[in-house]
Amino acid sequence: MKKDFLFTDIDNLKGVGPQLSKYLKKKRIEKIKDVVLNLPYSETDRSKINNINELEVGKIQTIKVLVKKLNFPRVRNLPNKIFCEDLTGKIEIVYFNSREGYLRKLFQINNWVIISGKINYFNKKYQITNPDYVTTVENQDYVVKNIPKYNLTKGINEKKYRSISEQVINNLPHVEEWLDTNFIKINNLINWNEAIKDLHSSTKARNKKSQSYRRIVFDELCANFLSLSENRRRIKKSKSPKNFATNNLKKILKSLPFDLTKSQKKVLEEINFDLLNNKRMFRIVQGDVGSGKTIVSLLSVFNVVSNGYQCALMSPTEILARQHYELSKYIFRNNKLKIEFLTGKTEFKKKKEILQNLESGNIDLLIGTHALFQKKIFFKNLGLAIIDEQHKFGVRQRSDLAKKGGENCDVLLMSATPIPRTLMMSLYGDMDISKITEKPAKRKKIITLSKPEKKIDELWPYIKKQIDVDNQVFWVCPLIEESSVLDYSSAKKKFDLINKRFPNQVGLIHGGLDKIEKEKILKKFLLKKILILVSTTVIEVGIDFPNANLIIIENADKFGLAQLHQLRGRVGRGEKQATCILLFKDSLSKNAVKRIKTLKSSDDGFLIAEEDLKLRGFGDLIGYQQSGIKNFKFADPVNHEDLFILAEKFVKNIQENVNQEKYLFLLKLFDKADIINTGEI
Ligand code: ADP
Ligand code: MG
Repeated sequence: MKKDFLFTDIDNLKGVGPQLSKYLKKKRIEKIKDVVLNLPYSETDRSKINNINELEVGKIQTIKVLVKKLNFPRVRNLPNKIFCEDLTGKIEIVYFNSREGYLRKLFQINNWVIISGKINYFNKKYQITNPDYVTTVENQDYVVKNIPKYNLTKGINEKKYRSISEQVINNLPHVEEWLDTNFIKINNLINWNEAIKDLHSSTKARNKKSQSYRRIVFDELCANFLSLSENRRRIKKSKSPKNFATNNLKKILKSLPFDLTKSQKKVLEEINFDLLNNKRMFRIVQGDVGSGKTIVSLLSVFNVVSNGYQCALMSPTEILARQHYELSKYIFRNNKLKIEFLTGKTEFKKKKEILQNLESGNIDLLIGTHALFQKKIFFKNLGLAIIDEQHKFGVRQRSDLAKKGGENCDVLLMSATPIPRTLMMSLYGDMDISKITEKPAKRKKIITLSKPEKKIDELWPYIKKQIDVDNQVFWVCPLIEESSVLDYSSAKKKFDLINKRFPNQVGLIHGGLDKIEKEKILKKFLLKKILILVSTTVIEVGIDFPNANLIIIENADKFGLAQLHQLRGRVGRGEKQATCILLFKDSLSKNAVKRIKTLKSSDDGFLIAEEDLKLRGFGDLIGYQQSGIKNFKFADPVNHEDLFILAEKFVKNIQENVNQEKYLFLLKLFDKADIINTGEI
């Protein structure tokens, strides 16, 4: 088989007609190489030839029998039967819908045949109905063994698929290894050809830790990371470097009511280094909620503006954008920065004015929501695009904003969802990452308590006390409305209950409200017109409510760790002591107990995210779901963490040579070659 044959349509295989091809494509087996990657999920043991008197009913077994008699009733709906025996007993082979000529050829009287299939017992007789395999004794090696089972139950039988799969696997082309022998050995991997054969033929090989499985995982990771890094290489094109306005920056820092944390300073330096560089910046700042990312991004704005460029800061919600706007006006109060605020709600006249000033370069910093990347908006010379809470935006939206900047535009993303390193790599490849790992020193650690739901009444006096000292309260429920299926608390019902106890002081917010209504309620809460806010998880995103110091989370065991941590981060943004109370049902799963314990003992978002990954797996993580990236077919970040790291290193070393034949093969194998063909971005 030639190498490129693998990348051709599945119907190029012998025995694959239009019907089968359609069926296979439905199962996502479109090209011949997909057969290579479609591993058996198990195998059927047909390796032992059993005597008829030892057959086990209901099991798939193999027998060697003498054909005695064939019976073809001429009545519709009656099956054809073949009567066979061995030295220990008799058995009937039953066929529905099969042609007489075919059966007569297969079963010749007084010949021994090998038959494999599921054993039934009917009318005191052993039977096999439509056996999986019938073969001559000379050919028994094809059947009498462990036979792989593929996940293709309906519409295609095992024998058929096996013939297709064997056609491919037995004729694998010799491919040029992209790993060298020593590397394979040191890292407990195995040669590609061998790995593929092994994976299709042995159950042992399909253990996640086997050499063969690790090999295919490594390849999958390399293909992913390669395409990501190629993508990035194209984004990080040359630009003219930006200089520093060191002195003025120092003045601004002095005018802040606080010192930057060490972490903040370090990240700011990393950003500045990128600005100074002659490659476009493509960096993400990760930091827990409240770690102070905004100020860092605004300080880098100052540098960019001093170079005569414009900046844009985009936030997912209006309130958040407004907070950034207020903060930037405050920070730059002594500098002559022209800052504007634009959202979908901005009045027509004002909007027109902003658009004009943007185009003529009369605005230095534009802060706003999705409105920023709309078509009609033209910057004179956008030099930095900042995207806050980046996971709330799609990849498309992010690049739309960045595109407004042209070739000198740096891109800075900010994310409050600390995600494990393995996931980070899968999402962004080797995008530059800055981490803010510490919180502003003054801030007190949030006290986290847990309480069984039935003691809910103990909370009322506590809430009353909080309100009396001017604190505000979040109350989080998993559901909006009562559900007849799920035994979880609903925000609406809780609102009614709490509203009775604290009349006129309670608000309700949930995902069922439209954006404008939601913002209205949040604003009310911010202005302290309501003191208790009952909500679903819609409050996750990073708005600053400095007076909210108590959060109560119902059915806490229902939420993932990272999500609980994010919710908890809604409080404790001011200087007062904040508390988080987790309510749960009496009967908690072991896993839930672990989660709650972790949360009580740690406030390190990165550690919590790693823990969450171990407890719940990849797919459940925040950020991952929103990313729209599909799960890996083979790689698993918990079991293969070492391979993630290894693949990352490997890809870094070959970056420049990605156009080599062998790497192209790898990319094609995992459907990642598009990036090479699409040309420059
Ligand atoms: P996040 O990282 O969640 O976006 P913010 O940037 O909104 O956090 O900052 C949270 C709060 O902490 C803001 O009120 C901000 O003014 C304040 N803050 C930021 N940096 C510091 C610091 N070094 N010392 C004290 N307070 C700070
Ligand atoms: Mg923020």
